[in-house]
This record gives sequence, C-alpha cells and structure tokens, in this order.
Amino acid sequence: MTKAQIAWINTADTFFIASGYRDRGENAAYGMDASHRGGERGFVQVVGDGRLVFPDYAGNNHYNTIGNLVLDARVGLLFVDFETGGLLQLTGTASIDWDSAAVARVPGARRLVTVEIEQIVELPRALPLRWDADADAVRSLRLIEKIPESADVTSFVFEARDGGPLPEFEAGQHLPIELEVPEYSEPVRRTYSLSGGPSQARYRISVKREPRGTASRFLHDHMETGTIISSRQPAGGFMLSCSTCPVVLVSAGVGLTPMVSMLHVLAAERGGRPVWFVHGARDGAHHPLAREVRELCQARSGIALHVAYSRPRPEDTMGTDFDGTGRVDGALLAGLIKNPGAHYFLCGPTRFMANLQTGLEGRGIPVAQIHTETFGPAG
Ligand SMILES: Cc1cc2nc3c(=O)[nH]c(=O)nc-3n(C[C@H](O)[C@H](O)[C@H](O)COP(=O)(O)OP(=O)(O)OC[C@H]3O[C@@H](n4cnc5c(N)ncnc54)[C@H](O)[C@@H]3O)c2cc1C
Repeated sequence: MTKAQIAWINTADTFFIASGYRDRGENAAYGMDASHRGGERGFVQVVGDGRLVFPDYAGNNHYNTIGNLVLDARVGLLFVDFETGGLLQLTGTASIDWDSAAVARVPGARRLVTVEIEQIVELPRALPLRWDADADAVRSLRLIEKIPESADVTSFVFEARDGGPLPEFEAGQHLPIELEVPEYSEPVRRTYSLSGGPSQARYRISVKREPRGTASRFLHDHMETGTIISSRQPAGGFMLSCSTCPVVLVSAGVGLTPMVSMLHVLAAERGGRPVWFVHGARDGAHHPLAREVRELCQARSGIALHVAYSRPRPEDTMGTDFDGTGRVDGALLAGLIKNPGAHYFLCGPTRFMANLQTGLEGRGIPVAQIHTETFGPAG
C-alpha cells in the first residue's frame, strides 16, 4: 500500500464490503452480498503492512456479511474518494475477533474484523459522480492539550481524531462544539471563538469557567486529554475585513479570544500596518494568554499594546504586566488612537460593548469601521 492509500483508508468514514458463500448443490442461502459500512472518520485503521482492522457495530442482526465470513473468509473492500471519483479495491481474507479486550476498547464495537490484504487495485477518477464534503458535517476532535491560562480560563487544544487536516478557519471565527454531559440526554451545544492562529492542524479554544455553567464547568472539570468531542465547521462573520487598514483590537475579560487569533495573523503580516491591542482585565491572575499577546506584539514593529487592570494586585507590575489602571472605555480609546481610518474590533461583556460603541460613534467613527462579537449573556 502506498502512503496515500493508507491515508485514504485511515480517514474514510465509509466503505463497501463484498462477501459470499457457496457450497455443493443449490441452496437459497448461497450467494454474494455487498453491504455498506460506516463509522467515525478513522474507524478503519491500517495496522502493519498489508493488514487493516475495522469494528463491526450493531447492525440489522441478519449477519449477512459476518455469516459469510465465518464460512468463507474471502472478502472484497471498496473505498470511494467522493471528491475525485477515485476507487480503491482491496481483496483478502478476513478473521473475526469476537470477544477480546481489544473489542472492548473500541466504543460501540461488537466485533473486530481484520483483513489480510492480498491484492490492491486503484482506479483514479473512475466514478462519474462527485460529491462535495458537507460543510455542516460533524467532525470528531481529540483533545490533545489542556492548558490553564489564568484563575478561571483554560485553553483546550484539539486535533482531528483521524489525524488528518481540519477545515480551515479565519481569525475571529468560532467553533461550534457538542459535549456529552452525563446529566443531559441530548448533546450540549456551545460555541467558542478559536483563540489560536489559523491552522488546519489544530484548533484551540480558551474557555472561562462559569461557576454555574454547564459546558464550561464540564470542560474545565471533566475533559482530559484523549477525550473525543464532536464539532461542526468553524463559522461566523467576525473577521479581519480589510487587508491594509489600521486595526484596533479591543477586548475585556475572556472576550480577548478572537482578538488573540487575529493578532497571530496581524503579527505575521509583512505590510506593517498599525495595530493596537487594547485589553481590560481585573488583575494579573485574571489575564489569560498575557505572555503570548506580549510576544506577538513584539513580533514586528507597528503593534501597540495597552493592558488596563481594574483592580491590580500588589504583585502586578506596571509596565510589565499592565500599562494602566481602570477600565477600557471610550475615553481611553480616544486618547490612544487618533487614526480616523482605523477599524475597531470589539468583544467583551454587554455593558463594555455598549459603552465603547457609543463612544466611538460619538467621535464620528463610521459604523462600517466598528465590528463586534458578542458571547451572549454569559459573556
Ligand atoms: C460566538 C461566541 C463565541 C464565544 N466564545 C467564547 C470563548 O472564546 N470563551 C468563553 O469562555 N466563552 C465563549 N462564548 C460563550 C460560550 O458559548 C458559553 O455561553 C459559555 O461558556 C457559558 O456556557 P455554559 O454552558 O458554561 O453556561 P450555561 O449553562 O449556558 O449558563 C449560562 C450562564 O448562566 C449562569 N447560570 C447557569 N445556571 C444558573 C443558575 N441556576 N442561576 C444563576 N445563573 C446560572 C451561568 O453561570 C452562566 O453564566 C462564546 C459565545 C459565542 C456566542
């Protein structure tokens, strides 16, 4: 198998399986069968050279395939690349693991089927029909890192469960996720802004623990690395809308998450357009991603940082941890930013947003230059 063929199989969420049984004479039970098998992307895995394993989930209990394989181990598998029309046909012999510890380790598996592959035929562009990936499709993500960022914010870093590329996102967009919280019969759905730079390898969200919040408490208290969750495609229209205009990123509390993602993009830009990162936090203990933001602001010239602490602790140092005391408000922005062409990106609690918007509009900043994101009442 080539590397590309292994990747094709390891990222498939569907394939077709052919099996059959015939003995002497005639019998209505003899014949060939073609069935569909589906699962989470990655449910089929190539193990070693020329062998693959897939779980057999609860089906219609007719055992057409499994019954055939018990009597005749010869099997044909067909993988389809629905975007290119490519077909991958494998033939070999199957063996069934009915009840070992390995079966118990695969959620939902009744049995594991191993196929020793004997022959491979790849037919590029063979299928006349093409399908696009469903933008709304649910993706399985694996938590690979859980990083405490401040007294009440923790970052969660995910990669695709199958290790493949993730749908791309724009800085400022958010990730809709679904969590299996034990007390709830339905998955709990929430959205979290992506707080890392655009990446197809990993998604990072940074979540504030709400003392009575369902999802945020579950994430903080019960999610451990290795846990699998479901997500949909990153979404949302809060993004850097112009490519050359001066940009002012203004946030308070956990509202800094989409701003940090945008800062990653702006810090890597070559043009050197002016950028201001203005953030309000209570104190140094409630200031997530502080070091990352300072480093990004120093990555190139033209990025100014202003952090305001409303109640600094004695150990918080002016000039190192924060740049001023008090809240971020219209007056502070008016003092810091004189550029009439700047675009403002705002995210924070409702009162903070209302105050800033009124202040900016009062200064004659056109509404088209003010972009806002709201986290809902909890924010
Ligand atoms: C576009 C978007 C982006 C977002 N990005 C982020 C982000 O980057 N980081 C982040 O932390 N959040 C973000 N949020 C908010 C996030 O989606 C959740 O709303 C938040 O985590 C709270 O969800 P929860 O399930 O923990 O709380 P919920 O269970 O939904 O509760 C909501 C609020 O009600 C309060 N509450 C619940 N039960 C009670 C009760 N019995 N009595 C009194 N109060 C109660 C909770 O304390 C909480 O404040 C974003 C939201 C949106 C819409």
